[in-house]
Parts: sequence; structure tokens; C-alpha cells
Amino acid sequence: MIDRTSSAPLEALLARRGGDLILLVDESLRIVRAGAEAEILAERGASSLVGMSLIAAFGSASLDAVARQAATSGEDTSGAADLGHLGTRQFSVDAVPLHGGGLVLSLHDVTALRRMERVRRDFVANLGHELRTPLTSIKLLAETLTSGAVDDPATSRDFVTQIEREADHLAQLVDELLDLSMIESGETKLSLEALDPDEVVAACAVRIGVVAERREIHVRRLPPSSSAGQALADPIRLGQALLNLAHNAVKYSHHGGEVRIGADEIGDRVRFSVSDDGIGVPEAHQPRIFERFYKVDRSRARERDAQEIGGSAGLGLAIVRHIAEAHGGAVGMRSEEGVGSTFWIEVPRAPD
Ligand code: ADP
Repeated sequence: MIDRTSSAPLEALLARRGGDLILLVDESLRIVRAGAEAEILAERGASSLVGMSLIAAFGSASLDAVARQAATSGEDTSGAADLGHLGTRQFSVDAVPLHGGGLVLSLHDVTALRRMERVRRDFVANLGHELRTPLTSIKLLAETLTSGAVDDPATSRDFVTQIEREADHLAQLVDELLDLSMIESGETKLSLEALDPDEVVAACAVRIGVVAERREIHVRRLPPSSSAGQALADPIRLGQALLNLAHNAVKYSHHGGEVRIGADEIGDRVRFSVSDDGIGVPEAHQPRIFERFYKVDRSRARERDAQEIGGSAGLGLAIVRHIAEAHGGAVGMRSEEGVGSTFWIEVPRAPD
């Protein structure tokens, strides 16, 4: 019979780096052999691992339980285990009993997979929430209208206007989602051009002007820095990103405030920034602000949304980040609560 614990394929498996974690244990779950990956995870060399009990080596009750079940039942057993420093990595475990006694344990790292599953779950939950709010309003308004509760034509008109506004929000949400998924998947081809930063800023100032005016917010173009070279970017995407930042600056400013838009050369990039003296972002929220669906405070966004500035699903900054990354650029922000914020997007500078 082949000695399974010393065959060449097994040796190859044990020596493999970057693959599954392989362990051989005896009937009492003491380690007989450990693969290279197992040594790394246990932070011990092979010599000190051999002879240790599974639980002492890895400190994982769930791994021990899978192995124990395979040992007592004599059957192949699968399960899951948290391992590594403070159990931060998740593994799927296969335990296969050997003829001569003992087990082969094979552990496959599923940490990234689990994280992706969590992200997808959160995404669906967030999306559900974002869709439900305007849908509930539309349904209530329509029900009130059809039940005949509103006799007054002016009030009816007002209800219909509200329905339209909620439907617009839904349409905008869907547009933003489609946009985000296109940029994220790399499906949108960027058509890069050398752009004059000052022209990009001017175009943005014009586009945001109408919205700003409604709230009596003054939009100021900062003078271009003398050395600012050209930016290498897709004019439509960059324009969209900068407009998103300007929209936020207006949305989160006080009446009568000022929004400043400008461009600067920072190393081999051009940075487009938008500053405001608005409500600012509390420090605790700043690290997550560019995540999709992330909002500082739902009620704060809702209240401003009601002022018809539009869009508060928490997707705007995620779109800006993805546009920056698609260009090989970056985003950033600096803010102080109650004082104001500066948000920026950087894209590569065009070669001279
Ligand atoms: P939203 O559609 O909710 O504005 P964003 O992704 O554009 O979503 O922004 C995420 C959150 O960041 C907002 O809910 C808001 O709380 C905060 N935020 C963005 N820009 C500003 C700003 N200029 N001033 C203050 N808060 C801001």
C-alpha cells in the first residue's frame, strides 16, 4: 500500500505556497505534517507545529469540531472555520479520514468571497431602502387622490407634482446606479483628451449656476494657477464628476453662501476642487464618505432633498471616485463640521 503521508503528490501539495492550507493530523488530532501555508497562518515553523494539537496550533474551535467529526464518523466532512489573527480569515474546511488512521485537512480561504457576498447583501438592502421611500410616497399620494379625499383642485395638483418629483428621484436613482455599474465594470471607454483645466472649471460653474442661483449661492471660479498644464481626461466624465461635487457643495451650503471651483497642478496630476462654507462633514464620517450609499445623516439629506436640489441616495461621491479611478487618478476631501468642505478629483496631467 502507498504510504499516503509521504507520497510525492502530497509532498508537492504540502510545499505549495499561495494555495490551500494542508494539514495531516493523527486520530487524537495532533499535527503530523503541516504544509507551507499552514505554517504561515499558525506563525510557527514545521518543527514546532508537529506534535501540537490542532486547537493549540490554530485556536479555532470550529476547525477542531470539523476534524473531530470526521475522526469519529470516519467519513469525509466539510465545514467552515475562522482562523488567523483574532479569527479574521474565513476558511472552508474539508476533512478526509485516512485508511491508516488520522485525517487530511484541506482549508480554502474564502475571506474575499464572504466579503463580496456581504457587499452584495448590503447593496441589495440599501437599494431596497432607497427605492421604498419614494415608492411609498407615490403610493400614498395616488391612493389619497383616487379615494376622492382631495376635492380641492389646487391640492390635487400639488399631489400630482409631488408624485412627479418622487418619480424623478426614482429615475435619477436608476440612472446613477446604471452609471455606477458601467464605470465600475470598466464598460465605459474613456475618450481621453488634453483639456484646459480653466475651461473645465468654467463649464462646471455655468452648469451649477442655475441651481446655485435658486438658493442664492454665489459660485466663484478660482483663478488658474500659473503653471497649470492640461489635464488628460474624458471631458464628459470629468465634467460629470466635477458637477457632482459642485452639486453637493450647493446642496450642503447655507443660503447666501459661496462655492469656489478651481484647478491646480499637483505633481503629475491636475486637481479640480470645489470648496464651500456649508455644514461640513463630521470627522467620524469622513473615511467612508466616498462609499456607495453612504450618507452622513439620512434626515439631513432628506431635508435638503425636499428643497428640490435632487439626488440623495449617497451615490454621487461613489461615482466621482470611480471616474477618478478609471482615469488612474484619485479623490479626496478636507472638511470641518460647521465650517465647510473642500472635495477634489485628480486626473493625470497631459504630457507636454
Ligand atoms: P448624496 O446623494 O446623499 O449627496 P453623495 O455620495 O454625493 O450622496 O454624498 C454622500 C454624503 O456626503 C452626503 O449624504 C452628505 O452627507 C455628505 N457630503 C457630500 N458633499 C458634502 C459637502 N460639500 N458638504 C457636506 N456634506 C457633504
